[in-house]
Amino acid sequence: MARFLRPLVAAEAGASGKGVTRRLFIWTAAAAVRRASPPALLPVPVHRVVDSRAQWTKEQLQQFWWSIWPEAVRNFKQGGIGLQTSDGPGEVRRSPADKPIFIGLRRGVINLVLTGHIPMKWDTGRALAGVTTIYDGYHVCMVALQYAHGDQIPFVSVNTCVHELLHAMLQDVFVSRPKWYQAGGREARIDWYATLLWLFHDGAAVRKSAQAYLGRLRSAIAIAPLRSP
Ligand SMILES: [Zn+2]
Repeated sequence: MARFLRPLVAAEAGASGKGVTRRLFIWTAAAAVRRASPPALLPVPVHRVVDSRAQWTKEQLQQFWWSIWPEAVRNFKQGGIGLQTSDGPGEVRRSPADKPIFIGLRRGVINLVLTGHIPMKWDTGRALAGVTTIYDGYHVCMVALQYAHGDQIPFVSVNTCVHELLHAMLQDVFVSRPKWYQAGGREARIDWYATLLWLFHDGAAVRKSAQAYLGRLRSAIAIAPLRSP
């Protein structure tokens, strides 16, 4: 927009004493147009399920809905990604071996499951704030309200929801059992991109990967009926 306006403004400024005013007006208008048309947000579907069996305090729940979740939405939006949310009932049942059994998940979306703590089978004593995986074909980000937090330290401790959703969008979720050194590298990589969204409003790489991720998510639904009995 600005490149096209420049010759016009120069000519008008030379022909009249009011050129500066007019130039200012046109530049202001051009800037307004630029501000009014940011790149369209990439929509990413997130289905939120609150575990009806979980136990948490009122303060934990309030902190999540009033602080952690809005911050996650804001961070993604700053990077050009729009979280399209839906909500539904659900729960996390625990097998005798504390293996999770999910009720209420949807296909073709990222299921964000809010629970009290991560089941022992997945947590293995690490007091995790979240886990992201593919469970029986469903994409699941499980967040433990007991340990979830907002942005704290750049590149080290970022918003739990952003961190877990990035494991999906950056396609770590397709790597079933990374080696220990790969796992550490992936954690650092996730916090790096989360910080770019948070502090630098840079989501170019995340958008690119998220587009590929959504393609894989949709193609998995397309072939699912062929595999069912
Ligand atoms: Zn992680």
